[in-house]
Amino acid sequence: MPSPAKNPHLPFGDQRSAPWYGKDIISVKQFSRTDLEYIFGVAHEMRVMVERVGTFDLLKGKILASIFYEPSTRTSSSFIAAMERLGGNVININEVRYSSVAKGESLPDTIRTLECDADVIVIRHPELGSAAKAAEAAHKPVINAGDGVGEHPTQALLDAFTIHEELGRMDDLTVTMLGDLKYGRTVHSLSRLLSLYNAKLNYVSPDILRMPSEIIAEPEAKGMRQAEHRALDKPLPETDVLYVTRVQRERFEDPAAYEKLKSAYIISPEVMKAAKHKMIVMHPLPRVNEISYAVDTDPRAAYFRQMRNGMYVRMALLAAVLGKA
Ligand code: ASP
Repeated sequence: MPSPAKNPHLPFGDQRSAPWYGKDIISVKQFSRTDLEYIFGVAHEMRVMVERVGTFDLLKGKILASIFYEPSTRTSSSFIAAMERLGGNVININEVRYSSVAKGESLPDTIRTLECDADVIVIRHPELGSAAKAAEAAHKPVINAGDGVGEHPTQALLDAFTIHEELGRMDDLTVTMLGDLKYGRTVHSLSRLLSLYNAKLNYVSPDILRMPSEIIAEPEAKGMRQAEHRALDKPLPETDVLYVTRVQRERFEDPAAYEKLKSAYIISPEVMKAAKHKMIVMHPLPRVNEISYAVDTDPRAAYFRQMRNGMYVRMALLAAVLGKA
């Protein structure tokens, strides 16, 4: 894993001692509890600043290159908004078919090109391991915005920040993950991250979309309590965080198999009656049909607040890797 700091040449004013200066963000495995406290603190300050002044010049003169080989609305726009709120600029490539990728350029060559123009690179790519490959090619920090069924570390960080902001703690929580746990990269990253805390994890999924055993093995090795279920009714009443995911249609070869599974679980106001009064419902979004719109007005529905937190966390991460946090 490429974690040593890059960027040996610091412009005046950058903080050499900043813990994440010049580093890649590829996996949540890179983060400790102390790192999370630091990121939560900076993200919180970013929120306060955005609410007070909207935009400020912390990253003025810095350029982010954002390249997305897979569709995205939230992750892509929140990285762009994060950079612009900090006074930086963005090279945004989300139509790779119009870039040299369409001419057959390799990923390392594309990354080497982008880093000539930019100070930091954000990448989303359908292949597992692609972000690590990009980071190996780059001398500038690379941030993984989703590598196929692998990880989505910035989503897990914003998920953890949301839990912390909403419930005021990360320990002694029961977190129930529901839906497509096989292909959903957000739950892979989140369960790894939660293994830093004293949490209980419930995994609720259809049999063929179970959490991969290699992911379950990691929290297990740390002595974490985990349980698998096929139905939500048993774990729901003890749940503090219900993390709902969509069935990942784009990872299915057989459309009929997707159709059979896409409505396996639907969270409705009726289902929510069995949940605690003080708990939250999260979703990395986009939703398809797994949470009914009628749940949106329930104060426990935290998914839109969670989405907003994405920008604050990404502001914190950009400032951190550019030595300004
Ligand atoms: N937006 C999230 C991701 O990119 C969740 C999803 O697509 O279902 O993984």
